[in-house]
This record gives sequence, C-alpha cells and structure tokens, in this order.
Amino acid sequence: MDLLVVGSGFFGLTIAERAASAGKKVVVIDRRSHIGGNAYSEAEPETGIEVHRYGAHLFHTSNETVWEYVNRFTSFTNYQHKVYSNYRGEVYPLPINLGTINQFFRAAYGPDEARALIAEQAEEFDAKQAQNLEEKGISLIGRPLYEAFIRDYTAKQWQTPTTELPAEVISRLPVRYTYDNHYFNDTHEGLPTEGYTAWLENMADHPNIEVRLDTDFFDTTQPLNKDAVVGTVPVVYTGPVDRYFDYAEGELGWRTLDFEQEVLPTGDFQGTSVMNYAGSDVPYTRIHEFRHFHPERDYPKDRTVIMREFSRFANRDDEPYYPVNTPEDRERLLAYRQLTENESGVLFGGRLGTYQYLDMHMAIGSALTMWNNKLSETL
Ligand code: FAD
Ligand code: UDP
Repeated sequence: MDLLVVGSGFFGLTIAERAASAGKKVVVIDRRSHIGGNAYSEAEPETGIEVHRYGAHLFHTSNETVWEYVNRFTSFTNYQHKVYSNYRGEVYPLPINLGTINQFFRAAYGPDEARALIAEQAEEFDAKQAQNLEEKGISLIGRPLYEAFIRDYTAKQWQTPTTELPAEVISRLPVRYTYDNHYFNDTHEGLPTEGYTAWLENMADHPNIEVRLDTDFFDTTQPLNKDAVVGTVPVVYTGPVDRYFDYAEGELGWRTLDFEQEVLPTGDFQGTSVMNYAGSDVPYTRIHEFRHFHPERDYPKDRTVIMREFSRFANRDDEPYYPVNTPEDRERLLAYRQLTENESGVLFGGRLGTYQYLDMHMAIGSALTMWNNKLSETL
C-alpha cells in the first residue's frame, strides 16, 4: 500500500482515483457500510425512486477543471434546481428575486423600484461591514424579507443566534432583481444520469484501489487503525478533525440532520423537489420529493417518496453534517490547524477534516489541488 485514505466521500475518492491513476496502490477505508460519504444515494425499494440518504445533493460548479474531471465518471442530466418557501401558508419563489419581492409586498415593482425599496429597508447595515449572518441578511434584503424568509428558518437550521453565525452562510444565496429563480448561479449544473452511487463507484473502480467498508480508523481491533498506520504509510484523513486529535482542543460544533422518509399513495405530493418552511411553527426546515430530481425517469405514477428534514446540534455519536462555526469554534479550529501541521505523514481534507462548508465541487476541487500541489510529487 502506498497511501491510506480515510473516508470514501468525494474528497477521499478523488485523492484515491488520482493516486491510483498515477500507479499507486491505495486503500480506502470507511466506517460506514457503503461508499460515497454524504453524497450516497439508493433506490427506495418500494418505488425505485432514487433517494439521497443524507439529504438532497445538487451538483453545480463554475470550475472548468472540476467539470472536466467529474464528466470522466458520469454524465449529467439538465436538471436545474429551484426552491420554494412556504411562509405563513403561502408559497414564494426562492432565492429572493423580483417575484418574491412583488408577491411579498403585493406590488408590481420593476427592478429599479424594487432595488430602491430594498436599499431603504436595508440601510441599517452596510453589506461590506456586516459582521454576522443577521447583519449580512438585513443588509442584502432588508429587515421585512429577512424576518420572513431567513430569521426563523436559520434559527431552525442552526439553533444558534444569527448574530453568532458567520455572514458567509447567507452569502451563498443570490438576491436577484429579475424573475430568475434558479437556485444556483454556476455555469454547470445537473444530476448524475445514473445516480450518485454509480458515479462514486466509477471513481473507485480501479485495479489499484481497494475499498474496505465498516472499518473505523479509530478502532484498534482492526489492522488499519490510526495507532498502527500513522508514520508507516502516508494517510489522507477526511473524518472530523477534532475526533482525530481525541478532542484535545475541545469539541467543534456540528449540526446534524434527522430525516423522516415516507412513501405516499400519490404521484405528486408538492409539485416540486424542495419546499422550505420558513416559520418556527413547522418543526422541519424542508420537504424533499425525490421524483422531481429526475423527471426524465420512468417512476411509478401512483406513489412518491418524500423526506422531511429536521436539524439539531450533533452529539459525538451523531453524523456531523454542517460546521456551526461560531467565533469559539473558529478559535478551536486554529488550534487544530496547528496540530494538523505538526502531524507528519497525515494530510487533512474534505468537509469534516477541514471543518468547512464545502459543496461537492469544492471538495473535489480541493482534493485535486491537494493531489497536484502536495501528494503527486511526494508519494
Ligand atoms: P463526506 O462525504 O462527509 O465523507 C467523509 C467520509 O469519511 C464519510 O463516508 C465517513 O463515514 C468517513 N469517515 C469519517 N470518520 C471516519 C473514520 N473514523 N473511519 C473511517 N471513515 C470515516 N454539496 C453540493 O455540492 N450540493 C448539495 O446540494 C449538497 N447538499 C448537502 C446536503 C447535506 C445534508 C450535506 C450534509 C452535505 C451536502 N453537500 C452538498 C456537501 C457534500 O455532501 C460534500 O461536499 C461532500 O460529501 C464532501 O465530501 P467529503 O469527502 O469531504 O466528506
Ligand atoms: N436560508 C434561509 N431560508 C431559506 C433557505 C436558506 O434562511 O429558505 C439560509 C439558511 O441560513 C441556510 C443558508 O441560507 O443555512 C444557506 O442555504 P442553503 O439552501 O444553501 O443551505 P443548505 O442546502 O446547504 O442546507
């Protein structure tokens, strides 16, 4: 073995695939019983509808290198993501656009009028100076829209005061003064034609790659554990960085999700793939209806699969999904970064290994960078 990769998500598989293609023997371990990390999907047995087990995953990128790379393993459909939000029993288009603004204010503003109105409602904070999610949100869309669509949804999703959340979380959402309600701004967008798992399996399908599932890096009863391996074989670790160091600098805050999946006896439950629920009166943040991700497929017409998503703080035993990133977390992260730099023979990557909010294309892009800049020369 030339390289051990801990974690078979997009970061780990990209590293493994690059190293294997360069002639290196790679072992990938994952503690789960399947590959693919959080992007894993499977057919719901009763309906055959592809369900993303860890929450809906939409692929999008403007990075041409990443786009060229991912197309080696899968083709993509022309799916374009759109999201709607149910606020007080009325459905509005997201992200905030001219349609949302006019529906909310019961108006027929043109782009300039809407801009002027929002500028007036947003003037209490300057977008460039905004220190946290609340200030940023208000500076972008004004207080009334912020309080309707962002404040309570964000409270449900993060259970952290919006004044303690970083401004970047909300900067992910565009604001548009047209009726364009595409959720993403990227050049390329689509879903893997044969599904996520087929894509991920194609990445791992190389004679130089061996995948071992149900294998935890911290389980000292199995041969490829941390104590036995570090220092003897180069390691790329994509699990939680705080866990690696046994929480020496304290626990980093993560959010986890609970999903409630249901098969319903109807061909269409909500008419769209994702419906957000803006208010605190509804306990879940959104409902996914998976058939709408693949309108081109021949799914049953009398049944559908929906999934309600609930968000809460992660305990140690939960799956860590989103870094919360409070100022205290960021302090701890700096201390962990110091430890990672001193950990010879181990590189830390991916969403969990770097404690960053990474989309799939970012995880793949940063793995390609790690390969090109750090590993390809030294392995
Ligand atoms: P992961 O996919 O988390 O993989 C890490 C792997 O490491 C896991 O398989 C885990 O089991 C394994 N592991 C951890 N600890 C150990 C251990 N001790 N021993 C062995 N294995 C271990 N991105 C998008 O681009 N679009 C989206 O719409 C989107 N939606 C998302 C929705 C949700 C709910 C979540 C959580 C993420 C979403 N993402 C989305 C992000 C996407 O999941 C990540 O970018 C991608 O999965 C990152 O891959 P990764 O390899 O860094 O981490
Ligand atoms: N957000 C919100 N209301 C919505 C949708 C999003 O307040 O209806 C905020 C929320 O804080 C969320 C952030 O915008 O964390 C980013 O949203 P996105 O849909 O990108 O979140 P993800 O799909 O990654 O959970």
